[in-house]
Amino acid sequence: MKEKLATRVKQLKPSATLAVNAKAKSLKAKGIDIINLSAGEPDFDTPDHIKTAAIKAIEEGFTRYTPVPGIPELREAIVSRLAEDYGLTYKPEEVVVSCGAKQALFNLAQALFEPGDEVLILAPYWVSYPPIVELAGAKPVIVPSSRENNFEPRIEDIAKAITPKTKGIILNSPSNPTGQIYSRKFMEELASLLKEKGLVIISDDIYDKLRFDGHGPENILTVAPDLKDQTIMVNGVSKTYAMTGWRIGWAIGPEDIIKAVSKIQGQSTSNATSVAQKAALEALVGPQDCVAEMCTSFKRRAKLLYDEITKIPGLSLPEPKGTFYAFIDFSSYYGKKAPSGQEIRDSLGICEYLLEEAKVATVPGVAFGDDRCLRISFASADEDIKQGIARIAEALSKLG
Ligand SMILES: *Cc1c(COP(=O)(O)O)cnc(C)c1O
Repeated sequence: MKEKLATRVKQLKPSATLAVNAKAKSLKAKGIDIINLSAGEPDFDTPDHIKTAAIKAIEEGFTRYTPVPGIPELREAIVSRLAEDYGLTYKPEEVVVSCGAKQALFNLAQALFEPGDEVLILAPYWVSYPPIVELAGAKPVIVPSSRENNFEPRIEDIAKAITPKTKGIILNSPSNPTGQIYSRKFMEELASLLKEKGLVIISDDIYDKLRFDGHGPENILTVAPDLKDQTIMVNGVSKTYAMTGWRIGWAIGPEDIIKAVSKIQGQSTSNATSVAQKAALEALVGPQDCVAEMCTSFKRRAKLLYDEITKIPGLSLPEPKGTFYAFIDFSSYYGKKAPSGQEIRDSLGICEYLLEEAKVATVPGVAFGDDRCLRISFASADEDIKQGIARIAEALSKLG
């Protein structure tokens, strides 16, 4: 039946992370002690008061369809939290709730992009941006950056990538996979370029609360509020409140775009799960100390990881400033040989070697558009981070 598949799926590149993931799982199934530093989600459990709100919703029979763009009280809570956290004023009609930030991004791409459009994506980028753009028929245009510049692209490289076909740009800071936050100067210069070119800006703010400098959330609109009519913000409860499985995210932006997203969602998934919406409501309006506690933990683990990694010869990384990821340059080991004789050639090669030799799972940088690096997650117990890095150091020392 393979020949019957649509071109769109035939062209879709399989995730480069899948091979490693499958291997990690099969090793684990064989009883091998794998330390998993590849996780893309918090290791904490959803806070109790949030779970209780969902249980109550079920018991009260809140189990039917809701309005497609979300229950009114959740859309209001999103607007209130945005006002409190960002100082930005929106109406509930400018919010659509989706099945995770990922669906919000997917819907936005469907609503905004089409064949002939180009969309700028700043590398290293979140794995799903290019396929989401491609599934809308548009072309992702990748703008590179360098480790030396803390993975911040140069404004002139972004300007050079803009053509008459460029329709939009996707931003993500704090960033998955780099753990970096774009500087104020970069954001200001970028804002003035994007204003001049009139591009649609999708600001993926999913890690906005997970920053280690004690600063409140910041994005392109806090830097340049005059970009409001060309910007859509995407966020959700997954990372901030340890709620990845609940699948609640949203988009906030100009009402005509939000209506278009609702129309698309109304013909695909309809509303996000009713009881998960109630849980997300409690997350936003309930006590916020859980967020600060988790952030403090991530900050401590970031430091632990950074201190241990920087002791290993040949590895380099900018110190993580937020999220729960470090993006580490392993390229000084490329060209070396494993004890088996196998040569390490790229990020997939080093990742597979570390999995086999050190029994540590990481994610190859090629999946994020930078083949020199590996992404290592510190959403793991301190002991796992320490042991995992010790094992990596030992495995690297065997390369010659
Ligand atoms: C996890 C993640 C998302 C998706 O979040 P969900 O709300 O769980 O769909 C979007 N963008 C980035 C950068 C992420 O890391």
